[in-house]
Amino acid sequence: VTAGLASARCLNHPDRFAAGRCLECQRTFCRECVTEHSGRLTCANCLRKAEVQTTSRRNPLTMVAVALLGIAGFLGVWLMFYSSGLWLERITDPPATKASK
Ligand SMILES: [Zn+2]
Ligand SMILES: [Zn+2]
Repeated sequence: VTAGLASARCLNHPDRFAAGRCLECQRTFCRECVTEHSGRLTCANCLRKAEVQTTSRRNPLTMVAVALLGIAGFLGVWLMFYSSGLWLERITDPPATKASK
């Protein structure tokens, strides 16, 4: 991948040559230990750390957003049925025609 890595070894596998360098911890890893994460080479260790950080940071917000969306969706559907029910009631079942028949 990068020149100068030719003699570098994987941190997890000392018997393997390094295929890339983690951009987070700047350590060299073999192809198996390093993964491309959103265009950046990251080792499994740093990837796990980043995932834990993002999930713990995003979880409360995501839960609030999902709850709000659920309430909004429920209210929207309820309003739709409620208003259409009133409208249908007025059209199909007016008290005047009922009395005349
Ligand atoms: Zn790393
Ligand atoms: Zn490795």
